[in-house]
Amino acid sequence: MAGETVDSIEMLRRLVAFDTTSRNSNLALIDYVQGYLKSHGVESKLVPNEDGKKANLFATVGPNVKDGVVLSGHTDVVPVDGQPWVTDPWTLTLKDDKYYGRGTCDMKAFYAIALARLPMMLKAGLKKPIHFALSYDEEIGCLGAHSLAAAMATEVPKPRAIIIGEPTMMTVVHAHKASVSFVTKFTGFEAHSSMTHLGVSAIHFAGEFIHYLNTVQDELEAAAPKDSEFVPAAATFNVGTIVGGTAGNILARECEVLWGYRELPTRPIEALGERAKAWLETELLPKMKAKHPAAAIDTVLRAATPGFSPEGNDEAKTLAGSWSGSNAVGSVVYGTEAGIFRRTLGVPTVVCGPGDIAQAHQPNEFILASQIDACEGFMDRMVEWACRD
Ligand SMILES: [Zn+2]
Repeated sequence: MAGETVDSIEMLRRLVAFDTTSRNSNLALIDYVQGYLKSHGVESKLVPNEDGKKANLFATVGPNVKDGVVLSGHTDVVPVDGQPWVTDPWTLTLKDDKYYGRGTCDMKAFYAIALARLPMMLKAGLKKPIHFALSYDEEIGCLGAHSLAAAMATEVPKPRAIIIGEPTMMTVVHAHKASVSFVTKFTGFEAHSSMTHLGVSAIHFAGEFIHYLNTVQDELEAAAPKDSEFVPAAATFNVGTIVGGTAGNILARECEVLWGYRELPTRPIEALGERAKAWLETELLPKMKAKHPAAAIDTVLRAATPGFSPEGNDEAKTLAGSWSGSNAVGSVVYGTEAGIFRRTLGVPTVVCGPGDIAQAHQPNEFILASQIDACEGFMDRMVEWACRD
């Protein structure tokens, strides 16, 4: 069967139709992409997760030689639960030059446009390869990218540049912060709320921890580098959720705090977490135990996404800048898989993709038609480059 030719919009429509919310398997989408590539004679490799319910995919278009370019995207999307969508999130819908649908902007459009250009890439006579790299579970902590990057590091001849197609409005991004999150469970001892001397409230001590995070935040802000390219300039903490307590007249036995921070890429990613854990252990826990020996504090790492430093990305910046037609190089504070690919493959990397991060994770997520046009221009210039010696 000769491979089918579809345009960017039709490919995006097909990819959006797969509900690849991170809690679901992404295999239906991966199977589709693998079949599409195969129908054009392009073999791909899968890197499955432990239980085999999800997989990364990579494939090489053109000669299997070094100096190619990697186009990287994640297949999963964030949930639509509880969001007031006007259209069906899994049906690509055009209204006023905007294409609505979950994942349009974050980030199926980038690789939909690249995949739609596959027949053109094959006809063009590439001299340098174009590699596709599709990951799973980016949205819940860049879980798939580690094994994908590791497999590509051993199996793909060293590329010249990696493009992570997260939404940047097609501007070139060469740095971002790291992101780390934890769950800390405070265990106290129940007592009647009038008898505070007989128990220990997990909620009250969780509150002390949050106060501690605020004081560290103030200290970091005061010491923030004045010439930082990040906004905010310093590392930032956030307590995302708190769950605890049973009733108004009981000292809370349990309180669970989901917290984390965004650290500058130039600083060690684990330092703030180690410092907070040490404070919990040496400062807070003894105070809790003094009230009741059953008290406990347990902290578990949820996810860590390495930062992405600007150093060593010049070649990718130059190439992506020439393909996007934009000289502006910037930084973002949201995490991507860029740091993982940069470290594992040791190849210059940038983030550059269609759409605005402001629309990511939102109800009624959309991508502007003009951003699709801009990304198509980027891909066309990239293919021209790949055809030259
Ligand atoms: Zn994304």
